[in-house]
Amino acid sequence: MNITVQKYGGSSVENKEKLELICNKIIKEKNKNNNVVVVVSAQGKTTNNLISKAEDYTNFCLDKKDLDFLLATGEMQTASLLSLMLNSKGHKAVCLTGAQAGVITDSNFGNAKIIDVVPSNIISYIEENYIVIVTGFQGMDKLGNITTLGRGGSDLSAVALAGALKAKKCEIYSDIDGIYSADPKVIPNSKLLSDISFDEMLEAASAGAKVLHNRSVNLAKEYNIKILAKNTFRNSRGSKVQKNIKEDFSIHFITKKDDVSKICIVGPMMLSNREAISKIFKTANEENIEIYMISFSELAINIIVDTSKSKMFMEKLHNILIEEK
Ligand code: ASP
Ligand code: MG
Repeated sequence: MNITVQKYGGSSVENKEKLELICNKIIKEKNKNNNVVVVVSAQGKTTNNLISKAEDYTNFCLDKKDLDFLLATGEMQTASLLSLMLNSKGHKAVCLTGAQAGVITDSNFGNAKIIDVVPSNIISYIEENYIVIVTGFQGMDKLGNITTLGRGGSDLSAVALAGALKAKKCEIYSDIDGIYSADPKVIPNSKLLSDISFDEMLEAASAGAKVLHNRSVNLAKEYNIKILAKNTFRNSRGSKVQKNIKEDFSIHFITKKDDVSKICIVGPMMLSNREAISKIFKTANEENIEIYMISFSELAINIIVDTSKSKMFMEKLHNILIEEK
């Protein structure tokens, strides 16, 4: 089975005109005698708007399971519209939710991990010559609840499906030409990279390069799936992310991570304060806080986390390390 997985990001699908162009790209790939599985993000700023709406309706007290149920609707709208458009043009298309596509996750709502992909439903549709449109960013836990994979998680959906379907190609489309030596919005002279190793891409994605989700790169490395990152609307050669096969000592990336804060916990003998160290990690785990960097000295532990979660993390740490003492 010749399968091409194409993933289209939020800015690529934000309106009818852009979806028209994407329909043409899909049809072109199908006409090359390839089966096409398309993974879509929510249109434009839909996910952000849904989060704001939920915050507005609840005074910021959000149940993570309910929120996932809401956020999943963003990608469902895009998948449905694209499928409707393809069908109205006389092509056989079907849209599937993450659950229908067989993306099984754990129950960590808001940041669920994929634990299995059972693509039998997709394969049946491919066998009947359908173009299959799948909602990115979401799956289903073992109890049948809708889960989401974390912000930007559609890349991860695409790679996971490409792996499970043993796809020949995994193309990730966005509004830039591929992967650059730095964010081109910050450094206009940055260079388009034609070839990047999984390891370097993973390091750069985790350090703030926004073009690919770091977990998707990790999964691509695990399955050895070559990713081609390309511009949706311009014919550029794009960038390949794949296994490194040659020795290369040149420097490829410079990245920066925005919107992070440093939290500093001060006390004597911090290096050997195992109790405090274990409480810090336990709290981060319970609150789903990613620690980007941590450093220890005799007198302090410094931790870098997302600014949006830093106040809440500080309050919890203050409570657990100082008030409860
Ligand atoms: N719509 C989701 C987000 O904005 C997932 C994605 O776009 O990959 O985070
Ligand atoms: Mg993205």
